[in-house]
Amino acid sequence: MSTNQDLKKIKAQLTERRNELEEHLHKLSTEKVSDDQVQDPGDQALTATMESLRSSLQDTELQEYKRIKQALSKIEDGTYGICIDCDSDISEKRLKWYPNAARCLGCQETFEDKG
Ligand SMILES: [Zn+2]
Repeated sequence: MSTNQDLKKIKAQLTERRNELEEHLHKLSTEKVSDDQVQDPGDQALTATMESLRSSLQDTELQEYKRIKQALSKIEDGTYGICIDCDSDISEKRLKWYPNAARCLGCQETFEDKG
């Protein structure tokens, strides 16, 4: 798909993003809304809203984190950017949006059609 130089760049970007997510997810999971003080109902409602916002953010970031880890391991074993079905290169444009894409666009569509 690309030169080693490009791959290095992609790897650096993914690694950086992974570290960011790692740090953020760690923060999210250790941060606790304090419950050692009496809250009025308004505070409690706010806390509940914040909690649900936070857990949906955490879900989203966790998904991204997993995708990035998969992509990085593909880079490691040299299969990054290669379609698992037809062995052709996956376009850079596609990889930009789906860093862990396992199939080229054509094969992905076929795959999804089959359900
Ligand atoms: Zn393909």
